Amino acid sequence: MNSNLYALIGLGVAVSFIMALKGLSAPKSARRGNLIGATGATIATVVVFFDPSSTKHHNTGLILAAIAFGVLVGVPAARKIQMTQMPQLVALFNGVGGGAAALVATVEYLNLSSEGKPSTANIVATVFTVIVGCTSFAGSVITFLKLQELMTTRPVIFPGGRFVIAATLAGVLATGGWTIASGGNTPLLVMGGLSLLFGVLFVLPVGGADVPIVISLLNAFTGLTVAASGYVLQSTLLIVAGTLVGASGTILTRLMAQAMGRSLFGTLFGAFTAKPQAAVGASEVRPVKSGSPDDVAILLNYASRVVIVPGFGLAVAQAQHTVRELADLLSTKGVEVAYGIHPVAGRMPGHMNVLLAEANVPYEQLVEMEEINPTFPQTDVVLVVGANDVVNPAAKTTPGCPIYGMPILDVASAGNVIFLKRSMRPGFAGIENDLLYDAKTTLLFGDAKDSLTKVVSALKNL
Ligand code: NDP
Repeated sequence: MNSNLYALIGLGVAVSFIMALKGLSAPKSARRGNLIGATGATIATVVVFFDPSSTKHHNTGLILAAIAFGVLVGVPAARKIQMTQMPQLVALFNGVGGGAAALVATVEYLNLSSEGKPSTANIVATVFTVIVGCTSFAGSVITFLKLQELMTTRPVIFPGGRFVIAATLAGVLATGGWTIASGGNTPLLVMGGLSLLFGVLFVLPVGGADVPIVISLLNAFTGLTVAASGYVLQSTLLIVAGTLVGASGTILTRLMAQAMGRSLFGTLFGAFTAKPQAAVGASEVRPVKSGSPDDVAILLNYASRVVIVPGFGLAVAQAQHTVRELADLLSTKGVEVAYGIHPVAGRMPGHMNVLLAEANVPYEQLVEMEEINPTFPQTDVVLVVGANDVVNPAAKTTPGCPIYGMPILDVASAGNVIFLKRSMRPGFAGIENDLLYDAKTTLLFGDAKDSLTKVVSALKNL
C-alpha cells in the first residue's frame, strides 16, 4: 500500500471517530454513532498490517492469535452482560486498554534501549504512558470489584491513608524523574510497580455512589495513555483516538460530578474528611403505608397529572415496556403524563433515556430535572419506579451524607407519592430515605415489572 493511501485511510478513520462521538451524543443517533466508530476501529486495526513505513512485520501470527482471543472473550462478554452491569464492563475494558498501552510502551522502550539510549522525548512519553496506564489499569480493576460487589462498595480508608497515597505518588514521580535522567530499565520497572500501587490506593477511598465518576476519569486517563503511546510508536491515529477519548472522558467526568453536585476532589478524597454515617436499618421499626395494585390504580385513575420517576430498579426489572403501557393507558383516560428524568438516575449517564427510548416512549414526555421540578406542586401523583437516591430529600437536609449537595427531583412537593420497590433496602448510596415514611407516600412492594403489570390490569378494570 502506498504511503499517501495509508495516510488518507488514517484520516478517514479519525473523521469516523469524531462522527461516532457526535452520533453518541443523542439517543436517536447513538446506534449509528457506535457502528461508525466500530467500523473505523476495525479499519484502523486491519490497515496497520499494510503500513508502508514498516519494512518488516514481526510476530504477525501472535498478533492475530491475540486478536482472536480478544474477540472470543470480548464478544460473548459484551453480549451477555446486563445493561445494569455496563459500568463494570466499561471499567474492565478501559483498564485493559490502559494496561495494554503501558505494556506496549514498555516493550518498545526496552527494545530501543537495547540499541542505545532512547531520545529524551521518547523516554518522557514512555514514562507518562507507563504511569498513567498502570494507574488506570489497577484503578479500573478496583472499580470493577467494587461495582460487581466482589469487595465492599464503601470507601476503604485507613489511618494515615492520605499520607500513604501522597508518598506513593511522590515515589512514582521520583522514579519517573530517575528514569528520564538515567534512561535505565530498572527505574522504569519500579515506577510501573509503584504506579500500579498508586492506582489501587487512589480508588479505594471512593464510595460506591461515586465509582462511576472515577471510571469516567480513568477512561480519560487511558485516552491520554494511548495518545502518548501513539507518540512512542509514531502512530498519528493512536494520538488522535487517544486524545478524543481523553477529551470526552474529561468532559463526561465533569458533567457527572456536576450532576451529583460535588467537586472532583471531593469525590476522590471526600471519604477522608466525611463524618461517620448513622447505621442503615435502624428505622425499620418506623411505620410505612403500603398499598395494593388496586389502591395505586385508583390513585392514578383519579389524577389529572401524573409524573413517573424511573430509576435503577426500572432497569433491573426491565419494566420499560410495562411502564410505557401504563403511561399510554393513563393518557387514553385523559391523565396528563410526563417522566421526570434525573441526570444520574440508574448507573450511567443517559441510562433512563436509553431505556425508555428502547420502549419507544415519546421524547417530548421525557422532562429534565430542572424543568420538571417546578411542576411537582401541580402534580397529583408521582410514581417512583425503582428510584431512591435521586428523590431522597437527605441530599438537601443532611450535611455530610454521601449524596449531600446532589440536586434531586422534588417529588415531596407533589400531592401523593407512590414508590414501587421490593423492600425497605436503601438505594445505591446506602442511606435511609425519610420520604418512604411520609404520610403522603404509599409503597407498593414487589418487582417493578410485576407490580406495574398488576396496576395496568387493575386500571383496565376501573
Ligand atoms: P437507587 O440505587 O438509589 O435506587 C434503586 C431502587 O430500586 C432501590 O430503592 C431498590 O430498592 C429498587 N429496585 C431494585 N431492583 C428493583 C426491582 N427489580 N423492582 C423494583 N425496585 C427495584 O437508584 P436511583 O436511580 O434513584 O439513583 C442512582 C444512584 O446511582 C445515585 O446514587 C447516583 O448518584 C448513582 N450514580 C449514578 C450514575 C449515573 O450516571 N447514572 C453515576 C454515578 C452514580 P429494593 O432493593 O428495595 O427493590
